[in-house]
Amino acid sequence: MKLSNRIVTVSPSLTLQITAKAKELKAQGRDVISFGAGEPDFDTPSHIKEKAIEAINNGFTKYTPASGMPSLKKVIVEKFSRDNALNFQENQIIISCGAKHSLFNIFQVLLNEGDEVIIPAPYWLSYPEMVKLAGGVPVFIETTQPNNFKIDAVALQKALTKKTRVLILNSPSNPTGAVYTKAELQAIADCAVKHSLYVVSDEIYEKLLYDGLKHVSIASLGEKIKDYTITVNGVSKSFAMTGWRIGYIAAPAEIAKAIGTLQSHSTSNPTSFAQVGALEALHAGEAACKKMVTVFSKRRDLIIKELSAIEEIIPFKPSGAFYAFCDISRTGLTAMDFATRILDEANVAVIPGEPFGSPHHIRLSFAISDEAICKGVKRIGEWVHTL
Ligand SMILES: *Cc1c(COP(=O)(O)O)cnc(C)c1O
Repeated sequence: MKLSNRIVTVSPSLTLQITAKAKELKAQGRDVISFGAGEPDFDTPSHIKEKAIEAINNGFTKYTPASGMPSLKKVIVEKFSRDNALNFQENQIIISCGAKHSLFNIFQVLLNEGDEVIIPAPYWLSYPEMVKLAGGVPVFIETTQPNNFKIDAVALQKALTKKTRVLILNSPSNPTGAVYTKAELQAIADCAVKHSLYVVSDEIYEKLLYDGLKHVSIASLGEKIKDYTITVNGVSKSFAMTGWRIGYIAAPAEIAKAIGTLQSHSTSNPTSFAQVGALEALHAGEAACKKMVTVFSKRRDLIIKELSAIEEIIPFKPSGAFYAFCDISRTGLTAMDFATRILDEANVAVIPGEPFGSPHHIRLSFAISDEAICKGVKRIGEWVHTL
């Protein structure tokens, strides 16, 4: 079969593959503990569900404007103002079918063939594939665990070429949980403005921060950087609404308009009643996520403490999101071998680092119960000692 050149260069999502395999083994009756989850294990808060059900019952089941309904855009504008000290007009907001879709759209409207996009590694595995699908070229800047998995303006400057168009930032980060400080973002913003570089700021884990940290949106650091930033967010991670598929962006009006045009010929509007649910979530604000953050924070401490007791594994203590990213190079295995073997031999599912650009790390999600964390890490420790 002859498929397009566009698709043959793209790798399928490996995180989804491993979690599918773990689910399959569970279904066969194996007692698998999965650290694979890329989503909160909480249920969507009931007040959000009720609004969406009410919308369906009231017949709110038709098309909305392709770029999202005006009432939700209004609430998103309010959210940016309240949470991020950012002022936008409604024509700068586009609502899409999840933040993943928002990101896909952004690269489609920003990139021409051969344009370079800087991606700090380790990275969320979809970024390079999305860039390639838009004809762009991913350029990676390596970061290390001792440097808290962060780039700085010096590294950014070094990676620039005549073809550089975009920098992707993801703070808090998936897979590392690293969080940039305001000062670090300011230095990066200055460099971006100086070189007319667009910044795609994926802030989907904004609400999942620990140790009392406050989220900083890079776009809020001045009018100039705001004009170069596309801020991406959504309700999936903050409100346990992954299946609802609602994400959004705030961007300079011209970029937002282009994304709206693209979307009007692809998906059209995101699901009408899911938008109503998102409106309720964003309107009600943080109360719902606060409870979740308290639980995640305790689990983070637990998993880091347990993992730290295993000599061959060096966990990175995340400041945000719900992943423990661990250096496993002392085991002598590649992450892929580690993940494949531990699932077969010890019934533990972990995500290997290769698709995140980090072949000596594994990612453990702590969006599971305390009991599962303890049991799972115990298995990891015992299994590692048999190597
Ligand atoms: C989960 C995730 C997304 C996508 O979220 P959706 O809104 O569910 O599409 C985007 N970026 C990162 C880093 C994520 O982990």
